[in-house]
Amino acid sequence: MGNNTIVVVGSSNTDMIIKVPRIPRPGETVLGGQFSMAAGGKGANQAVAAARAGGKVLLIARVGEDLFGEEAVQSFERDTIDVHCITRDDQAPSGIALIFVGEGGENSIAVAPGANANLTPAHVDRFSRQISEAGTLLTQLETPLETVLRATEVAAASGKRIILNPAPARPVPVELLRRVSILTPNETEAEVLTGIPITDNKSAAAAAEHLFDQGVSVVIITLGARGALVATREKQEWAPGFHVKALDTTAAGDVFNGALAVALNENGPLADAVRFAHAAAAISVTRLGAQPSIPHRKEIDEFLARH
Ligand code: ADP
Repeated sequence: MGNNTIVVVGSSNTDMIIKVPRIPRPGETVLGGQFSMAAGGKGANQAVAAARAGGKVLLIARVGEDLFGEEAVQSFERDTIDVHCITRDDQAPSGIALIFVGEGGENSIAVAPGANANLTPAHVDRFSRQISEAGTLLTQLETPLETVLRATEVAAASGKRIILNPAPARPVPVELLRRVSILTPNETEAEVLTGIPITDNKSAAAAAEHLFDQGVSVVIITLGARGALVATREKQEWAPGFHVKALDTTAAGDVFNGALAVALNENGPLADAVRFAHAAAAISVTRLGAQPSIPHRKEIDEFLARH
C-alpha cells in the first residue's frame, strides 16, 4: 500500500427507510408506506464519497455475519474500496438504521449499532500498519470513542493528516482534538464542542477560536446551503457553497468530508479542497438517498468547470 491511501475508520449501517404519510405516534400503526433499503453509516458514506471522488480508499469497519453485512461489503468492493480490514462479528448483527420519512420530508430514526459498537481499539491495533502507511486518516464519532482515540493516536505518531468529522454531535476529550489536523463540524456539532451557539459568521469564528485553543489546526464549520467557514489561526475565510435545487440533504456532510479528504490527500491547497468538497456535496443534495446520490470524480470536475 502506497502512502497515498485514505484510511477511513468508521461505521457501516444498512438504512431501512419507510416513507409514510406521517410519522407514527407511540402505539400507532401507519399504513400506505413505501419501503426502501440503502447502504449507510457515516464511515461507509465517507469512504464511498472518497472512492468515487477518485481516492484510493481502505475502510476499517465491522459488520455482522449476516446478509446486510455481506451486501455492504460487496457494494464497497463495487466502489473499489479496499475491504480487507473489514471484520465480521459473530456475536452482533450488522448496524441497522430504521428511518421513517414523512410527507413533508421530516424524519424519525432509530439506530441499532450492532457490530459497529464492537469495533474496538484492538481492531485498530491489528491494522495499525495500514494507518501508519496511509496518506490521510478520515474518521467520525459513530464508532466507540476509544477506537477513534486509538486510530488518531496511531496516525498522529506517524505524522499523518487526520480529518475528524465530529458527527454525530458529542463532546470529545481535548487529547483527541489536539491530534486533529482538520476538524469539520456542522453548526450543531460545533456548538456541542464549544458551547457557542452558531447563529452567524461572528459566532462561527468564535467557535473556531475556541477549537484552536484546544489544539486543532484547521477548522471547517459547514453551514448547509450557506457554505462553510474555513479557519486557521492565521486567517478565517468564508467559502460559499454552490446554489443548487436541494432534493435530499441526507449525507451531505459525509460527501463533503470524503471529497475533502481526496483533494487534501492530492496535496491541493485548502481553499481548492473546500471548493471541490462543496461541489461534491452540492451534487449529492440534488439527488435522493445517501450512497446512491454520491457523485463520481468526472461529475465533480464537470460541475466545477461549469461553475
Ligand atoms: P451535515 O449534513 O453534516 O449537517 P451541512 O448541512 O453543513 O452538513 O452540509 C455539508 C455541506 O453540504 C455544506 O458545506 C455544503 O457544501 C453542502 N450542502 C448542504 N446542503 C446544501 C444545499 N442545500 N445546497 C448546496 N449545498 C449544500
